[in-house]
Amino acid sequence: MTTNINFFKKELKKWYKKNQRSFEWRNSNNPWKILLIETLSQQTQIDRADEFYKKFIHKYPTPQHMARANKKEVLKLWSGLGYNNRAIRLHASSKVLAKYNFDEIYPDFTILPGVGPYTNSALLSFAYEKKVIAVDTNIKRIIKRFFKIDDLDTFLSKNTDMLLKNFKSRDFNQALMDLGATVCTSSNPKCKICPLELLCNKFIVKENKKSKRFEGSMRQKRGHVLKMLLTGKNVTKQSINKELEVTNKITDQILDSLMRDDLITISKNKVIVISDN
Ligand code: SF4
Repeated sequence: MTTNINFFKKELKKWYKKNQRSFEWRNSNNPWKILLIETLSQQTQIDRADEFYKKFIHKYPTPQHMARANKKEVLKLWSGLGYNNRAIRLHASSKVLAKYNFDEIYPDFTILPGVGPYTNSALLSFAYEKKVIAVDTNIKRIIKRFFKIDDLDTFLSKNTDMLLKNFKSRDFNQALMDLGATVCTSSNPKCKICPLELLCNKFIVKENKKSKRFEGSMRQKRGHVLKMLLTGKNVTKQSINKELEVTNKITDQILDSLMRDDLITISKNKVIVISDN
């Protein structure tokens, strides 16, 4: 195992030196910038997330700036990115951060809405230079394939110290994110050009495509309805049925799910609006 880990680190380091992608937030240890990009890049390609990051950091350079905005303004800037719950949670986090700064919350940022174990690790690694692995889908995939393991948690609890010895966690995490996005992709990994190929076990797990398709279609419909609401026109159940070409039942499901997430409210005269607070 030690030989494999040493090879993995050495080749990864070399590859990253030549192939790292450059983004403004990558060299920053400002936790607000890290939180912004990590929230924007969930379920979104990094180049697209970066376009939105530039708009967000310009308009909201600190949590205080975002906390002063209302939900609708934040959603408007978010428009086109999808998974709008992320915007709502980011806005809610900015309100917490306007009262307590990151250093006061450190080291457990999971008290912020929408911050789970992954984003918490990313903040610790990128903003506080802690020796932690930010286990995102790319990192998970590469480690599982290379070391041929099923139980990632047990593997990491035994080997994190060795993996990060003489390797900045920021570089380790970013290198694997880049390798996962460009070479060890989820389908059709490019093993022939991979720096890890020589010792890789290439243990490739098949994904459940059926459930992904279903999630995609519901997500799309929710996004479509929110887009209608952002135009400022009156939106009703009937107008949604017509625009999305769906039945009353489907529209009810979409509206229920948006109300559960506190994204919309329905007024007495049955007009639907984005909820604000
Ligand atoms: S050799 Fe193939 S499966 Fe192994 S890490 Fe590289 S791209 Fe992934």
